[in-house]
This record gives sequence, structure tokens and C-alpha cells, in this order.
Amino acid sequence: MSTDWKKYDVVIIGGGPAGMSAALWCGEMGFSSVLIERELAPGGQLAAIHNPITNYIGVNAANGGELLARFTESLDRLTFERAPGADITDIDLEGKIVRSADGRAFAGRSLIIATGVRRRILGVPGENEFRGRGVMTSGAKERELAAGKAVVIIGGGDAALENALILSGYAERVIVVHRRASFSARDEFLDQVKLRSNVLLVTESNIVSINGHEAVDSITVRSTSGSEMTIPADLVLIRIGVIPNTDLITGKLATDQAGYIIVDACGRTSRTNIFAIGDVANPLAPTISTAVGTASTAIKSLLTNPIN
Ligand SMILES: Cc1cc2nc3c(=O)[nH]c(=O)nc-3n(C[C@H](O)[C@H](O)[C@H](O)COP(=O)(O)OP(=O)(O)OC[C@H]3O[C@@H](n4cnc5c(N)ncnc54)[C@H](O)[C@@H]3O)c2cc1C
Repeated sequence: MSTDWKKYDVVIIGGGPAGMSAALWCGEMGFSSVLIERELAPGGQLAAIHNPITNYIGVNAANGGELLARFTESLDRLTFERAPGADITDIDLEGKIVRSADGRAFAGRSLIIATGVRRRILGVPGENEFRGRGVMTSGAKERELAAGKAVVIIGGGDAALENALILSGYAERVIVVHRRASFSARDEFLDQVKLRSNVLLVTESNIVSINGHEAVDSITVRSTSGSEMTIPADLVLIRIGVIPNTDLITGKLATDQAGYIIVDACGRTSRTNIFAIGDVANPLAPTISTAVGTASTAIKSLLTNPIN
């Protein structure tokens, strides 16, 4: 029977730190593999890190790009296939065949899902319309745009408050709007933010809209008690968490309530020879080290649970 796919020991979907580490360990273990990434270059969230990375042991990187260059260097000595620009839109878990939007197909004895997470969106009027015209993509990268400006940051976790610290060093004022009464950010960030005289924390308030004409000029918020107010703003940064990239496997693999893939200690999912690694299966500790670590565990476990 003729097929339109090439078969590998391991098919890896997602070229972030987890997927890259999986490709490395396939090389080390002598498994044939393909690393599939929908963007033209690998790296995943590393491309969005514009701050120094100080918590990946053994490496102090000025930013995600620098760490990515080190990862790429480690992979250069290994033989495996790369499929850049392949957005996987179809997955056959039974046959272990995946297909990309542009018609490429890859089959594996094992599939590794390393599709990571994406930023949650607010879904309010103005959010898309003003992207790049006041709605920021990165606080760290665009910090200088904030000089002398009024910035609103939406969210209550680490990302929101770390950005409040960064941007309050440049902006005239920073207002953090959070829907709950208390913040989930680590104390270290919250304590420092409270010491900044140009940062105001507005709690128990939801965003109704981001407003403006040519560019953002204000946001409208509604408090949980129902009162609405409009806050002048030149820049808005939305940091309200992430959601796992699991559209491919929804209803096909066991997930938790938030959509994260449920795995055992080896990264095994609810289906034989289908693994999930990195952030897509790790709501508790999504980091570069856990991503690369879960990858090595999954690939090494193939030695004791042989690929069939
Ligand atoms: C601003 C920022 C700062 C951070 N700082 C740190 C830090 O200091 N220390 C730290 O440890 N961690 C940090 N992180 C988190 C860290 O980057 C992530 O934990 C890590 O990148 C997770 O790796 P991953 O491979 O699981 O997922 P990702 O990096 O999300 O990679 C997933 C990849 O899969 C691809 N993909 C998704 N769906 C498909 C599909 N259908 N077909 C093909 N490809 C697909 C995506 O394009 C992406 O390239 C930070 C993250 C951000 C955003």
C-alpha cells in the first residue's frame, strides 16, 4: 500500500525547548525523529523572552534569543529531520500520523506533543484593533515606549507585576487592573510594586473595552460592584495568563479542566506511545528546565517501554 508519509521512531510536534530537547535525546538514544514546528524557526516562547534568563542552571543568557542559540548549537551535531513551517492541524492517534496545513504528513512509532502554551486574550472591543497602536506585545522589549506615558497593565500574576516593575521605571504612571481582590503574583514582585510611588493597584475590576481613535487613549473598567470608570491610558499590556495549545487533541486525550494534557511521571498520556512534554502538560511549573527535563524523561523511557 502506498503512503504519503515518511515514518520515524519519534515524531515531535512543537519546536520549543521541550521539543528541541526531545530531538536531542532522540539523537543520543539513536531514535530517528522529526522536529515539527509551525513557525519558520524553532524556539517557542524563547523568542518572547527579552529579559536576562538567570534561572536555567549553568547558563546566564541575556535573553531568550541567546539561550536559543546555545540550544541550536547543541542540536547541530545531531542527525534528525526538521520540518519548519509545518502547522499540524490533524492528528490520527491510532495510526500515529500527523498532517500539516500545507499537506505534509509524518508518521511515528511514538508521538511527542510539545505544543506549549499561548497567551490568554481578554476578548474585549479594542484589544485586536489597537494591537501595535497602544496595545503592547512585550513590556520588556517595548519598555522605552513607556517613557513619560500612562500605562495600564491587566492581570494579577507574576507576568503582570514583573512588567509593572519594569515599566514603572520609565512610565509616568502604571495602573495594574486585576479582576480579583488579591494577587497571585509571588510576594517578591508584589512587595516591590507596592513601594513604587507611580504604581496604582486597582482590584476587583474587569476590563470592558480598550478605547481610542488612531491609538489607545483610555480603558473602561467595571468593578465587581457594577460601577464603571474610564481610565486614561497611552499603553496597555495584557498579562492574564496562558492556555495550553491542545486544540489538536481535544476530546482525544485526557486533559484537566484547564485543558492541560494529563501525563504520568514519564510523560505518557492516556494513549499508548503518545507522550506530552513541556508546558502543554505542566500547569504547575512551566519553565525551561522542566520543559527540557520532561523531554529527556519521555525519550529515555522509550528504552524501558520499547517503541512497538
Ligand atoms: C516572557 C516570558 C519570560 C519567560 N521567562 C522564563 C524564565 O526566566 N525562566 C524559565 O525557566 N522560563 C521562562 N519562561 C517560560 C518558558 O519559556 C517556557 O516554560 C518554555 O518555553 C516551555 O517550552 P515548551 O517547548 O514546552 O513550549 P513553547 O516554548 O511554548 O513551544 C511550543 C512550540 O510548539 C509550536 N506549536 C504549537 N502548536 C503547534 C502545531 N499545531 N504544529 C506545529 N507546531 C506547534 C509553537 O509554535 C512553539 O514553537 C518565560 C516565558 C515567557 C513568555
